[in-house]
Amino acid sequence: MEQKMFCYQCQETAGCRGCTMVGVCGKQPDVAAMQDLLVYVSRGISAVTTALRKEGKTVAPEINHLITLNLFTTITNANFDRESIEARIRATLEAKAQLLAQLGDTANLPQAALWDGAGDWEEKAKTVGVLSTENEDIRSLRELITYGLKGLSAYSKHANALLQDDGEVDAFLQKALAATLDDGLTADDLTFEDLPNPFLGSRDRKLYGLWPGSEALTIGVQRDPVAFDRTDNGTPVPAQVFRLPATEAETVDYNVYMGGDVGETVIETGRPDLPSILIYGDSFTNPVECLAYYSFDEMRSIDLRHYKDMTLADYIQAYQPDIVVGIRDYEALLSTDFNGSPFQIQP
Ligand code: SF4
Repeated sequence: MEQKMFCYQCQETAGCRGCTMVGVCGKQPDVAAMQDLLVYVSRGISAVTTALRKEGKTVAPEINHLITLNLFTTITNANFDRESIEARIRATLEAKAQLLAQLGDTANLPQAALWDGAGDWEEKAKTVGVLSTENEDIRSLRELITYGLKGLSAYSKHANALLQDDGEVDAFLQKALAATLDDGLTADDLTFEDLPNPFLGSRDRKLYGLWPGSEALTIGVQRDPVAFDRTDNGTPVPAQVFRLPATEAETVDYNVYMGGDVGETVIETGRPDLPSILIYGDSFTNPVECLAYYSFDEMRSIDLRHYKDMTLADYIQAYQPDIVVGIRDYEALLSTDFNGSPFQIQP
């Protein structure tokens, strides 16, 4: 049966795979198409605003609000009104045309930044939706970034409604959104290595050696390594993110990632032009940390089960990371035991 739409942005998605005929939320295919197009033009105008900022030009708060509201419009259950979504696409294209006229150099802009709305919008929407990115790893990364930014836009929209503005947040949101158009970024920065060791993974762990498991642990290693300094709980330690076994016979488990659970880890890469990140949670953060540090000037990580020096709220206040990411076991997500409460350290 011919697919009429594709959306997998929320936990309600059909069969945990994607809504392809109609949204479980009730979103109709024609509305899904216009939402895809609205995200596309929002990416396009973000590429223009990001280029303007690089040229030292100011972007008006009205433009920031427009982009933020566009993203907010496309979150689950926010807006199923096709006409109002089309009106937002028109408004975005008009604003973009004015911004393009202010830009000195348009040579490196992506196609989305130059599309003027010509042609049949439904046909155009078919070419710019989620599945238009063929490589599924790149598609997943782009969509993950987009969904994170949609969440950010929801908070930013509410702040704007309370007459609060933060130009840095807007600039970051637009820069990240524009990056999802960058075809020069590939998934080829990693090589994947299967460790030869016996692996005590989730399946083998359940059986605890009663069955000759054949799981292997795969690690992603940067092709072009970035030098860094690492500190665990305030003490300098070797600059490693994988603790590899000495022999191939030794059993490995998830402690390969970051050497297991550490209360606080700080990785500094000495690239101040890049942002900083705080990742908090439990052991689920470890494999992410092994990759995340690569893209940041400074990566901090705190394991809420072990780090007790200050609350999460105080930690954020003290270090002011540009980005904060929480990764916890699903069932523990709402837990406030150990140091799980953002505002109070549990005894
Ligand atoms: S937002 Fe609606 S259409 Fe999209 S995945 Fe969720 S339920 Fe499906």
